[in-house]
Amino acid sequence: MEQEQLYKLMQSIFPEKRILTDLADRYSYSFDASFGEYLPDIVVQPSNKEEISKVIKLANEYKIPVYPRGSATSLSGGSLAVKGGIVLDMSQYKKKLIIDRENLLAIVSPSVITADIHKQAENVGLFYPSDPSSSHVSTIGGNLLENSSGPKGLKYGTTKEYVIGLEVVTPTGEIIRTGGKTVKNVTGYDLTRLIVGSEGTLGVVTEAILRLIPKPQARKTLLASFNRLIDSGHAITNILSAGILPSAMELMDNACIRAVENYEPSGLPIDAEAIVIIEIDGHMAAIEEEIKKCEEICRLHHAIEIKVATNEKERDSIWKARKMVSPAITQMGPTKISEDATVPRSQIPKMMEKLYEIREKYELNLVVFGHAGDGNLHPNIITDQRNKEEMKRVEDAVSEIFEAAVELGGTLSGEHGIGTLKAPYMEMELGKDGLLMMKKIKEAWDPNDILNPGKIFPQPGQSKVVLS
Ligand SMILES: Cc1cc2nc3c(=O)[nH]c(=O)nc-3n(C[C@H](O)[C@H](O)[C@H](O)COP(=O)(O)OP(=O)(O)OC[C@H]3O[C@@H](n4cnc5c(N)ncnc54)[C@H](O)[C@@H]3O)c2cc1C
Repeated sequence: MEQEQLYKLMQSIFPEKRILTDLADRYSYSFDASFGEYLPDIVVQPSNKEEISKVIKLANEYKIPVYPRGSATSLSGGSLAVKGGIVLDMSQYKKKLIIDRENLLAIVSPSVITADIHKQAENVGLFYPSDPSSSHVSTIGGNLLENSSGPKGLKYGTTKEYVIGLEVVTPTGEIIRTGGKTVKNVTGYDLTRLIVGSEGTLGVVTEAILRLIPKPQARKTLLASFNRLIDSGHAITNILSAGILPSAMELMDNACIRAVENYEPSGLPIDAEAIVIIEIDGHMAAIEEEIKKCEEICRLHHAIEIKVATNEKERDSIWKARKMVSPAITQMGPTKISEDATVPRSQIPKMMEKLYEIREKYELNLVVFGHAGDGNLHPNIITDQRNKEEMKRVEDAVSEIFEAAVELGGTLSGEHGIGTLKAPYMEMELGKDGLLMMKKIKEAWDPNDILNPGKIFPQPGQSKVVLS
């Protein structure tokens, strides 16, 4: 459809200032934190569910693709308008953040920044555990639709564990509610769980009811360095099998350690093959005992140095090293390809070995860090998108990373979703029939393929490429 005609249709729903048609405006909506650049025909900024319902009904009538978008920090191309059409900028949706202390709930609109939920909950002694590293910029809407998580996923699980109700505009424009405010609910199919993690392909979320838990009373943090990566792997599995469940267990390899020390020296041992950060939370008496046990296990597995933070300042300095990884490795080259293949935790040492083999084979700058306790590793390849020869090697290396994860009983993505980038690999993990069952759900919900088309499912002729 001509842009002018599309503009007229949107004018019947939105005031002029919430419709963006200029090339410069549309260009700023043409990318996210992954790769690829797709210019939408128009951007609209809904502020209520009725507007969204009207857009979607018109989109069905005229067969126009609609792409919901939060803060666009997706690392898998989730919100990109790969088929043109309309971008629904959900970041401007009216903000609502209510903490219901009696019922231990938060009622939120999709545009709320996740860190604001953390803050408001903690102000009243409650806790919303899901903690993607992007929580200061990403929206809860994006977190819900990607089923995001972070270091605390090890003990507390992912976003979906905390969503008990949703308000959703369906791909055909109806406004429905799923779940509710009760902790228990077994009435019919669990549509809440189906929509969480559906990457904006099964509905536009306009409100969510989140479960909160009491804030842990205390926490203890430890940093252990190892001369051999394999020893760190054994320490991790032994801590978990000793009946201790840390709230976080993060691993950084030597390349990460060196990158952080080059970027902002934090006193990390640059010759160590790996460091592991372990955090325990809970009752004061219990965490004292558990952190001692973690220390013992690390020593047993030849840790060369162990630091236990004795106050918040020391804790912050331990975590600062981990938080510096992303900015530090961004400095190492113009293009960073961030993967999140995940394996059963017992397979972490094998997966690390495989990653280093891939690094050698393709002669790439590959660094590894991640949430070691839950098997969610982040191999990052630092490269230069303009170097076509190297990019071919990157593509082959990424394919091998996915193959290795699936062969070890793991998955393509633990956090970042499938989007466009991992769609070609879906059959490898799910098999033909498994993928077909997912496709049938999409077709039943969205018969005109209006909502976020071109995501999750491999497109005809789509090759196994990293960059579009
Ligand atoms: C530096 C950095 C660190 C990161 N760290 C982590 C991490 O630790 N853990 C992690 O899991 N991810 C991480 N990410 C990835 C990203 O931040 C998450 O996927 C996040 O949840 C995306 O939120 P967003 O608001 O940016 O959503 P967007 O990127 O805008 O959208 C994400 C998906 O949600 C859909 N969507 C958004 N809002 C709605 C809505 N209201 N209704 C329907 N669909 C919607 C979009 O169509 C898209 O498919 C990181 C990204 C960056 C850049």
